[in-house]
Amino acid sequence: MKRLITILLTLSILLPTASALSPDDVDNVHIKDRTRFVSDMAGALSPAALSQADSLLAGMWRQSSAEPVVVILPGLDGEEINDFATRLFSLWGIGKKDKDNGVLVLISVGDRKAVIRTGYGAEGVLPDVIASNIIRHDMAPYFRQGDYDGGVLAALMTMNGALTSPEAREELMSRYANDAGASSGSQVDFFRIYLIFCALVGGGLLVLVPVVYLSSRRQPTSKAYGQLQSLKLPALVATVLALGFPLPAYILLVILMRHVRLQKRLCPNCSTRMLRVDEDNDNSYLTQSQDAEERLDSVDYDVWLCPQCGETDIIPYINPTKNFTDCPRCSARACTLVNRRTVIAPTTTREGRGVEEYACLNCRNRWQKPYNIAKLAAPPIIIGGGGGGFGSGGGLSGGSFGGGMTGGGGASGGW
Ligand SMILES: [Zn+2]
Ligand SMILES: [Zn+2]
Repeated sequence: MKRLITILLTLSILLPTASALSPDDVDNVHIKDRTRFVSDMAGALSPAALSQADSLLAGMWRQSSAEPVVVILPGLDGEEINDFATRLFSLWGIGKKDKDNGVLVLISVGDRKAVIRTGYGAEGVLPDVIASNIIRHDMAPYFRQGDYDGGVLAALMTMNGALTSPEAREELMSRYANDAGASSGSQVDFFRIYLIFCALVGGGLLVLVPVVYLSSRRQPTSKAYGQLQSLKLPALVATVLALGFPLPAYILLVILMRHVRLQKRLCPNCSTRMLRVDEDNDNSYLTQSQDAEERLDSVDYDVWLCPQCGETDIIPYINPTKNFTDCPRCSARACTLVNRRTVIAPTTTREGRGVEEYACLNCRNRWQKPYNIAKLAAPPIIIGGGGGGFGSGGGLSGGSFGGGMTGGGGASGGW
């Protein structure tokens, strides 16, 4: 029995240390003593450095608009340092609630990682660029040598300069200009990838357009033209979306379309070169239906005339931007949808049926076409709860500081 109690006692001591470190476990020294701002749970700092750090931080609280604190932990037991910093920031409510001017410097000795996390109100005086450089240029070089005193004090002195002097802040921004570029490397990479993508789209279209042109050469003129025409809108959209890279392909496409339409034609009877009748005079060669189509702009006709034997070739060019369909009676491309009604309503298990009513603008014919209506989508299953509670701010739970929140600003890095 005595042995069992011993085991249970041992377990109860071991269990909390075995589970992951929680922000609740971090010693909030500032509650106990308002003159202290460094919680060194790793015992990384010497007593002299600790008191120097506390007085530096006290000075920043007095002289600047920000309220920085430092937490040094032996390790995070596998927790992500950025997540931990956010949770600790909220738990303690670092910074004043109305100003969100808190700054948390979190160092995990075991993970060799550090984070400087700023509240919304402190981002202006301690921009991410400076936070990132404090970690890389002030902390990391010392920490690599195992000199935590040196790294923490160097970081706090740079931070003090940034917080208390606008000139120093400017200086820090410009001194580390190159690193600022490097720190936003992901954006640079994204832009580079985007540029490559745009160039590929432009290059791809520049290959595609001639390929379509060459493959369409054996087809009748109107079909060849239609194939090129189907590329026109996509090429135009691509030109806009891909920073103009596909513009050469688009211009080539327009030139080739014009070429296909105006290229020389030989009379099928006498092989004489045919002449294209201009738009004003071609109506006399068109049927009444064709004329109606031209007026509706659903089809454009080119009329070619043989000056030798009088042969006429009429080439139709369908306008894909007009939503006309062919009339089953007069065969003019002049039918337009005038009405659509549901006959059998669809359910979640069965398709519905409807009728589309078309009218021909040429012969006034009205006709109907049945169509299927897709099944109704099943209503989404709503799973209740979830999501709430997060980010409720540190004001209530922490209370030791002023209830400030972090917007995730700051920087992190390792050594
Ligand atoms: Zn002829
Ligand atoms: Zn008709």
